[in-house]
Amino acid sequence: AKNNPNEPEFMQAVAEVAEAVIPFIEKNKKYQNKMLLERMVEAERIIIFRVPWIDDQGRTQVNRGYRIQMNSAIGPYKGGIRFHPTVNLSILKFLAFEQTFKNSLTTLPMGGGKGGSNFDPKGKSDIEVMRFCQSFMNELCRHIGADTDVPAGDIGVGGREVGYMFGQYKKIRNEFTGVLTGKGISFGGSLIRPESTGYGTVYFAQSMLATKGDDFKGKTVVISGSGNVAQYATEKVNELGGKVVALSDSLGYMYDADGIDSEKLAYIMELKNELRGKLSDYVIKYPNAKYVYDERPWGIKCDVALPCATQNELDEGDAKILIENGCICVAEGANMPSTPEAVVVFQDAKILYAPGKAANAGGVTTSGLEMSQNSLRLKWSSKKVDERLKEIMCDIHTSCVKYGTDETGHVDYVKGANIAGFVKVADAMLAQGVV
Ligand code: NDP
Repeated sequence: AKNNPNEPEFMQAVAEVAEAVIPFIEKNKKYQNKMLLERMVEAERIIIFRVPWIDDQGRTQVNRGYRIQMNSAIGPYKGGIRFHPTVNLSILKFLAFEQTFKNSLTTLPMGGGKGGSNFDPKGKSDIEVMRFCQSFMNELCRHIGADTDVPAGDIGVGGREVGYMFGQYKKIRNEFTGVLTGKGISFGGSLIRPESTGYGTVYFAQSMLATKGDDFKGKTVVISGSGNVAQYATEKVNELGGKVVALSDSLGYMYDADGIDSEKLAYIMELKNELRGKLSDYVIKYPNAKYVYDERPWGIKCDVALPCATQNELDEGDAKILIENGCICVAEGANMPSTPEAVVVFQDAKILYAPGKAANAGGVTTSGLEMSQNSLRLKWSSKKVDERLKEIMCDIHTSCVKYGTDETGHVDYVKGANIAGFVKVADAMLAQGVV
């Protein structure tokens, strides 16, 4: 902690991994005395830069840009870019650290990275977003490349922002390569990439439920967020016969006891992705639903909860209410949405609980598949990509079970994911020497 002052989120992410990995290292001689975990917590490189841009009134604005190149032992750095006013070094270091383990779990050759800016795309015109993305890329382009570091989207960065950043990279470098993933379908993007994190989270939860001989049919599901991950998680739950009764955004949550069917979901997608409006407008169109300001949706009775908004959005009190209400499965679509105290509640109750680094790995998995397609200069069908995604989510589940099952047969997915993620990176670092 003294080396990383004022970085609570980074400390939280490291503590969770250390708790699982240190006892594992103590039992396995080959990982001892090599400072492996100590090396992993030290980013290989951190770039912090000025991002100046001009707003629609002709005024000069300035934001701070970051890229954390955390670990390249098993492949080029890979991880999203986040644009949100809360972005700081601690949040991006936690995300880059988590990403290293997540990418390792996917079985694809990708190292860990993350980046972003404290820029807030909300309320900005399309042209302002474009100018910002171009200025951000003016500096970032020196540090990334298809074989070096391949960013993608995250909170506040979707297809539009990736498109503007890709256009600027191509102009400056005069090369058309797979330097970013999440690109538009017409210029190298992979089919299923937009759907993949939400779908993957639901596939993972499906595997968890299957360990109890159960599935999504007839299940009541509460999802937080209403962005990319939440939208496609809702779509997949509907497909598998579950009923999603709540979504949320940064202002509160929306409850629709009748369930958010495909027509209502199409409206939410238009509202959030095209009109860039507020989730509260849903109740104007569907008056049977209610919108509650300044609260989170975890008090709603459900069988399955999928936190898909942001870090630390589900605390100990929320976890206790979920358990009291009979929730049997929590799979994290977001990164570190449950506080450490909430995780303890889930683990003590021995419900099915999976951390983001396992349950939301579908996004980066499909990004990895986008990189493969770009290198091959080929385009795979939706069916092929979706099948690969399903297979890999299943494999990640199997790895968690392998390293996380205790003598009673209970699966600790936190332990399983952290150890499985660690082993591959550690083996590569050992083989490559002290570099
Ligand atoms: P989006 O920007 O598309 O959506 C984020 C959603 O979360 C929005 O509904 C937003 O509310 C809400 N939200 C954001 N910040 C807060 C906050 N501080 N408090 C309450 N609500 C908040 O992002 P994504 O869906 O892409 O990402 C969601 C999560 O999933 C993040 O943790 C991200 O790191 C993780 N993730 C995303 C992947 C991807 O492929 N996109 C891959 C793996 C993980 P509002 O609508 O009001 O802005």
